[in-house]
Amino acid sequence: MTADTYDDDVALRAYVLQHFPHLMTPLERRVTEYSAPIVGDSDHPKILKLHEYLEERDGHVDDADVLTAFQDPHEDRVANAVDRVLETRRDDLIENRCSQCQRLVRTPVAKQCLWCGYDWH
Ligand SMILES: [Zn+2]
Repeated sequence: MTADTYDDDVALRAYVLQHFPHLMTPLERRVTEYSAPIVGDSDHPKILKLHEYLEERDGHVDDADVLTAFQDPHEDRVANAVDRVLETRRDDLIENRCSQCQRLVRTPVAKQCLWCGYDWH
């Protein structure tokens, strides 16, 4: 995406995914972060170790819910999670926008707009 082709919806969705995964539920994080289901009922030691880490980090997520979510393709799982964040957690989202061009800047703490070049350091 360039300044000419900037699409605010696309930019906002990427920004949520990159900077606000903590607004997702544990299940949403579990099924969007990885391309394979990370479940406790696995024969692979690496999967089990990762599962243990995620349960510790995010809290318990049922294997059945993870497997159900994985019936949808990855891009749908991501779109669903981002939709839910935008619908229900919008107030918790820090939309760092450029005061000159109103586009979303790269990060919540950026002080420079890479779209128009405006700098507010
Ligand atoms: Zn700008």
